[in-house]
Amino acid sequence: MLVDELRALLGVDGVLTGGALQARATSWSDPTPPDALALVRPRTTDEVAAVLRLCHAARQPVVVYGGGTNLVHATRTTPRDLIVSLERMASVVAVDAQNQTLTAQAGAPLQRVQEAAAAHGLFFPLDLAARGSATIGGCIAMNAGGVRVLRYGMMRELVLGLEAVLADGVVLTALNAMLKNNAGYDLKHLLIGSEGTLGVVTQAVLRLFPAPRTYATALLAMDEFAQVTALLPLLQRDLGGALASFEVMWNDYYRLTTTPPALGKPSLGQEYAYYVLVEALGGHERFDQVRFEAALDHAAHAGLFDDAVVARSHQQRSELWRIREDSEQIERQHHLTFGYDVSLPIGAMEEYVADVRSAIALHFGADARCWVYGHLGDGNLHINVWAPQLQPQDGDRMAQIVYRPLTAVGGSVSAEHGIGLEKKAFLSLSRTPAEIATMRRLKAALDPHHILNPGKIFDQEEMSHP
Ligand SMILES: Cc1cc2nc3c(=O)[nH]c(=O)nc-3n(C[C@H](O)[C@H](O)[C@H](O)COP(=O)(O)OP(=O)(O)OC[C@H]3O[C@@H](n4cnc5c(N)ncnc54)[C@H](O)[C@@H]3O)c2cc1C
Repeated sequence: MLVDELRALLGVDGVLTGGALQARATSWSDPTPPDALALVRPRTTDEVAAVLRLCHAARQPVVVYGGGTNLVHATRTTPRDLIVSLERMASVVAVDAQNQTLTAQAGAPLQRVQEAAAAHGLFFPLDLAARGSATIGGCIAMNAGGVRVLRYGMMRELVLGLEAVLADGVVLTALNAMLKNNAGYDLKHLLIGSEGTLGVVTQAVLRLFPAPRTYATALLAMDEFAQVTALLPLLQRDLGGALASFEVMWNDYYRLTTTPPALGKPSLGQEYAYYVLVEALGGHERFDQVRFEAALDHAAHAGLFDDAVVARSHQQRSELWRIREDSEQIERQHHLTFGYDVSLPIGAMEEYVADVRSAIALHFGADARCWVYGHLGDGNLHINVWAPQLQPQDGDRMAQIVYRPLTAVGGSVSAEHGIGLEKKAFLSLSRTPAEIATMRRLKAALDPHHILNPGKIFDQEEMSHP
């Protein structure tokens, strides 16, 4: 039996079943115990390869677990699935300060990697509120974005090389550590954003940067969306590329995260239509703050905001970020909400949000609530919706309201959270038939028995009839 073979391979504590399995939670978006055959905890790449060889031969479906923080049911299992957890492959392997690279095992939490880089005076810029749990492998598999994409890019731009085990157990070693390597296809890009469907990432070489010496942070408030859209290029120009974050909150979201029981303090009045959290990172203590405040002065004279607070201490900076990052309040305070992560051109956002709000009010009543916030500098909005009578079966209707208008403006149903199970019915709104057909051919080539994360991104039946 497969579970016995896995025990022989990984030892008794390497294979969890029964109560030990039930003590786990599936993910942030599925807080229930996983329904699965077993959970295995390999310690090495060779063990991952041996597990996948067995699974490939037995046509055994496999779901990879990182930190479980995905928001699209990407790690949901069926009773037939085997979970491969990377929790015992969580070390930072090496930091190369001269070449500014860091090698980590895929199960290493993002925060551990950030701290290891900082210990060498370096900086791993990917950052998101789930940093304590989200793993490097999970961030690669989801091509995570977060709050500094504007300056440093998404995970794809930060991975120099990786090692992965393919569905048949072949170890794909592609641990490139150079910025430039155009020797043939760059296969790491197949794995980045593949949501555990093309291989199991076991290690990665990440790109580091000099650690910033200064963080200049401010919260700005304004009533017109035109002020928001004009502010972004002005700050990018005046700050000479130092602008790392440009995070927007519509009024409802700011009110939610600055009103008890939320712990955020309303640093600015709660009456403005929009709030923008901006942050510039730099390397010169005296000069950077002066330049930052000069840029804000310029924006004030151009009438691009109506009120502002500049962080004067590390604590004030954390307080401003708490207002933006405390999205948990939505689910804490409202039972059954639907969340969306869309991207669209910045110029189309105001009308899009207004149209979505009206459609939600029309279909779900005037009491419906709609919180909008996100990484506006990257063209990425998060939208969370709640209504008094909302039922799980309303999900499809709500998704149609949020997603349908994106096609006309060239937007995407998934800016950074991936597809998982949650958005697969809407994949074709953001990808052409040729793109989807090519994705299927890649999947069939690399995982001919469809054992890796079956049913995610694509339906299994569709896979057998490409
Ligand atoms: C509070 C909060 C804030 C967040 N903010 C952001 C944000 O700003 N930006 C953003 O992009 N995301 C954000 N997320 C989503 C989430 O943190 C990211 O998607 C993250 O990259 C998931 O990492 P994980 O280790 O938890 O992966 P998991 O949830 O464990 O897995 C995600 C997917 O990756 C696969 N996978 C995991 N590890 C591997 C591996 N080693 N090899 C192959 N496949 C693997 C899984 O099978 C699954 O399909 C947020 C989530 C929360 C809860």
